[in-house]
Amino acid sequence: MKIESVKILFTNIFFITSRKMRVLIDTGYPLSKKRFFEKIEHFKDIDFVVLTHTHFDHSGNAAYLKEKGSLIVVHKNEEDWLMSGETPKPPGIKYVGKTIMRFSSLKSFKFPPVKPDIVISDVTKIEDLVLVPTFGHTPGSISIVLGDMAFCGDLIMNLSWRPHSHLPIFAHDIEEVKKSIQKLIEMGVKTFYPAHGKPVKLDNLRI
Ligand SMILES: [Zn+2]
Repeated sequence: MKIESVKILFTNIFFITSRKMRVLIDTGYPLSKKRFFEKIEHFKDIDFVVLTHTHFDHSGNAAYLKEKGSLIVVHKNEEDWLMSGETPKPPGIKYVGKTIMRFSSLKSFKFPPVKPDIVISDVTKIEDLVLVPTFGHTPGSISIVLGDMAFCGDLIMNLSWRPHSHLPIFAHDIEEVKKSIQKLIEMGVKTFYPAHGKPVKLDNLRI
């Protein structure tokens, strides 16, 4: 098992390779097709693309990967958003999130639409990976658990300018976020790999 990551603008995406399959977790902010494939040129023959949720900085390049034959995986609560290429803007949390959202003129986030191939509604296994619904940041957010690691999208955010909390600064339901983090801890997760910022060990997690 090999885990690699690359940053697409400000979003970490992860590539997991085992003997049986090659999985990409998230696709980053929408780039041109050429620039995106340059960024991931060492990630070859991707079987599955699992989207932790459909915000544009996660699903932005999924359409290009579908064209290349990868199977796109999403939770059913966000299937329609993925197919429309538009996700509603999430509410800001606390002062910082609210301020950022107030100054953002966008009403929604847009990206090239894509039809998913696998739509999950509950805990789903793909070989060694366990896809776990971890709602809160969005209504269809999922985390990908591998042993004691969780690739958790925006369920937590490790922002250097906000060291006192790893909670996301945008969320549809922040109480649901906290329950979802607890769910992962109960599954034995010891390290969280967020899409924004460096991995966080459970001992250092601040919620
Ligand atoms: Zn997000």
